[in-house]
Amino acid sequence: MSNIPDNNEGKRVSLCCLSPDEIVTTLGLSKRFQGRQIYSWINEKHAEFSQMTNLPLQLRERLISEYQSPLSSHVSDVQSDGSDALKIAVTYPDNAIVEAVILSDGKGRNTACLSSQIGCAMGCAFCRTGTMGLVRNLTAAEIVEQFIHIRRLQPDTSHIVFMGMGEPLANTEQVIRAIEHLHDPDGINISYRRMTISTCGLVPGINTLRERQLPVRLALSLTGANDSKRDILMPINTRYPLREVKEALIAYQKEMKKRITLEYVMMSTVNVSQQDAKDVALFARGLEVVVNLIPYNEAAELPFCTVSNREFESFAHELTRLKVPYTQRLSKGQSINGACGQLAVPLNRS
Ligand code: SAH
Ligand code: SF4
Repeated sequence: MSNIPDNNEGKRVSLCCLSPDEIVTTLGLSKRFQGRQIYSWINEKHAEFSQMTNLPLQLRERLISEYQSPLSSHVSDVQSDGSDALKIAVTYPDNAIVEAVILSDGKGRNTACLSSQIGCAMGCAFCRTGTMGLVRNLTAAEIVEQFIHIRRLQPDTSHIVFMGMGEPLANTEQVIRAIEHLHDPDGINISYRRMTISTCGLVPGINTLRERQLPVRLALSLTGANDSKRDILMPINTRYPLREVKEALIAYQKEMKKRITLEYVMMSTVNVSQQDAKDVALFARGLEVVVNLIPYNEAAELPFCTVSNREFESFAHELTRLKVPYTQRLSKGQSINGACGQLAVPLNRS
């Protein structure tokens, strides 16, 4: 399993984003086919070196003593809310910690919610991760490692959303590398359409996804549908205002032909009036979207309250009247702070 002792023995390389040939070079293997064998153990069976039984014993022992593990990180904490969410803390060799969550829908579908950065620089007013600031970007291998830890705990995990800590399109190259690795049909083999990137609206990143023709799903965190409100709730809006974001989404959709999700975090008296619903409809016009209504998950250190039932109903009713399709996200994992936007590791924890 993933309990790597937290000491300084071993070189702590990560083999998690390497191709079979790169594994051969990194480990100094004499036989090329062993690169493919180790690739398969890591990515299909999520094994440790000690479990790689088709490698000669001597080689296994060398790898354990030199590198400890094919992963650089270990799981330092696991918390369950008893039913549909399991949150793990993943600790990297520099003692940086991120959180990742397994969400179960009760019908057998398990989704890994992965982090792309430690903290986040975007400073959204309602988001716990935003209060941390950015500590550092994660590498592609560090992102893939979160998924491997999750698969060890829940082998049936079939979907991935980049909705954990961080802004994926502020770390686009590493996120794309991780996605390509997670997709490899000879390895982890998650199809692109089962992966979703959620962004606060970084226009250059949306353009990159379009240029690279990466057929993943895209979600935009809208949450404020007029500029004055969104400037305050999501300060990135002052750099990329709604008009520019919408232009990028139109161009994206023209080429990728995929429905886009608009995530809308609902906060009582803040963004749930009839006029707010009209603003959402106006933004949605000309795009093929579904709005995902997310009741705000309250956090002790933030001043917002979640939407009331009455506010929710009248907002949803107005969307229906304006012919805007929506879904409602059931908030999972609230009791363990594992729900979206609740991921934050106190900086004084190491
Ligand atoms: N940075 C990316 C992805 C991570 S945040 C983004 O912003 O899209 C994932 C989702 O959680 C976003 O839709 C965000 O708006 C939402 N979120 C943040 N804080 C939240 C909170 N307190 N309650 C509910 N959703 C929240
Ligand atoms: Fe960062 Fe997303 Fe949180 Fe905004 S909502 S601070 S972009 S993680």
